[in-house]
Amino acid sequence: MQKTTTMKYKPVQNFINGQFDEQTSLSTLKVISPLDGTLLSEVPLSTSNELNKAVDAARAAFHKWSKTPIKERVQVFFRYKNLLEKHLQELALLCSEENGKTMGEAIAEIEKCIELTEFATSLPQLVTGELLEVSKCVECRTEHVPLGVVASIVPFNFPAMVPNWTLPNAIALGNCLILKPSEKVPLCCGRLAELLKEAGLPDGVLNIIHGDSVIVEAICDHPGIEAVSFVGSTKVAKIVYQRATNNYKRCLALGGAKNHLIVLPDAIPAMTAANVVASMSGCAGQRCMAASAMVGVDNVDHIIELICEEARKVIPGENLGAVINKESKDRIERYITSAEAQGAKILVDGRGATVTNKEGGTYVGPTVIDHVTPDMDVAKEEIFGPVISIMRTKTVDEALAIENASPYGNAASVFTQNGGMARYIMEHASAGMVGVNIGVPVPREPFSFGGWNESKFGVGDITGKSSIEFWTKLKKSTIKWNAEAGVNWMS
Ligand code: NAD
Repeated sequence: MQKTTTMKYKPVQNFINGQFDEQTSLSTLKVISPLDGTLLSEVPLSTSNELNKAVDAARAAFHKWSKTPIKERVQVFFRYKNLLEKHLQELALLCSEENGKTMGEAIAEIEKCIELTEFATSLPQLVTGELLEVSKCVECRTEHVPLGVVASIVPFNFPAMVPNWTLPNAIALGNCLILKPSEKVPLCCGRLAELLKEAGLPDGVLNIIHGDSVIVEAICDHPGIEAVSFVGSTKVAKIVYQRATNNYKRCLALGGAKNHLIVLPDAIPAMTAANVVASMSGCAGQRCMAASAMVGVDNVDHIIELICEEARKVIPGENLGAVINKESKDRIERYITSAEAQGAKILVDGRGATVTNKEGGTYVGPTVIDHVTPDMDVAKEEIFGPVISIMRTKTVDEALAIENASPYGNAASVFTQNGGMARYIMEHASAGMVGVNIGVPVPREPFSFGGWNESKFGVGDITGKSSIEFWTKLKKSTIKWNAEAGVNWMS
């Protein structure tokens, strides 16, 4: 799939104590653009030696950074936000090249980074503690105190946004961060580090260590790391959650998803079809919030026809990006083939998609599969491609039973014009994020993001107000202002 042997960008390096760390002795992986197979760069597979250096740098920076008043700390993020705006096109191009998403999707991703950073600048307004005179001249007060050195491990599907779910909040709240990007998309994170340095972030407060499972395991085991956040597949989320908590670390691990859209016959047809298709095909279906299964209640044939019409307007290489690599393309196509073999009907078939002049790219066209039954793999498993599997039920309760049976629980949406039905489905869906007449029900700041069941392990959510609890600990102070002692406090 590789197109040229010359790398477009220089080799990726770890970022330790404010410097890119040239490490020629480490083995590397190639970074190849899913758009057309261009060799972009290579990424080092770090070992615990590099992690130790990063943790030492973060520890050294922690005292001064954590004692810097939060109103001063967030000034870095006001400047970072301006830099994200200034470099939006350049960052979006990098994001699109390494991940394979369209330029429009990449621009939206960087815009989301800006929104996440705006939230971090509002943290001084949200982290105020409490104070009460609990008895005469005795006060109790609470304050949110940073944890120390913390880590954030991120997946490939949002090379800039998911790092910005954790980075601004964890750092603005006074922690020093070790970021572990996905080895498949390591380029954006390095550029974000440069921008943060330009914004005035002191050396050692952010450190980036590249690598694979070896470095993730080393993070979970490192005694100098207080907390670990993880975003990725459920299989790895379970490994990380168990390993980090076994080492007595605080851990929040977000996993994979199988999101259901329940469509009732009274749904507005054009709007529903447009939403279903945008949700299943946006970012080539590689979103943990993507619609992957649709349950049509009673007769929704007229809506399914429109869904097929809409899907046919989604063209690989034009308004549909690539999937991350050949392995992923093959896996998605195998799912479609297995559904067909099990008796489902492929209404729109995305197998074998190619794009002229981008033959080295890894594309799967939009795929609509009808008459799927709940026992089929495409109904149960996360496909992570632009594929929607349609099941049919007679009643809303049968549709809910299918949704409830999924081990995941990231998102669920209902399409209807009946308020009572919408309310009923919102209440009974077993998902952390529910939507009404919206295909991708992502809560926007200051609301927090996080699923249920096997889509998330740990307490709280990863963004928004909920992140404050994860990235800080509470200090409770009791103060006796003993007036009778006659101490002159002013002396
Ligand atoms: P992944 O689990 O393969 O990788 C995530 C991170 O874990 C990467 O940094 C990777 O280097 C590391 N890793 C991979 N295998 C490992 C192992 N065996 N041991 C330790 N570490 C390992 O996920 P991915 O393929 O990069 O991303 C796609 C997945 O992420 C999908 O399942 C998607 O649903 C999920 N995701 C979830 C959310 C959410 O909010 N719940 C958001 C984005 C993506």
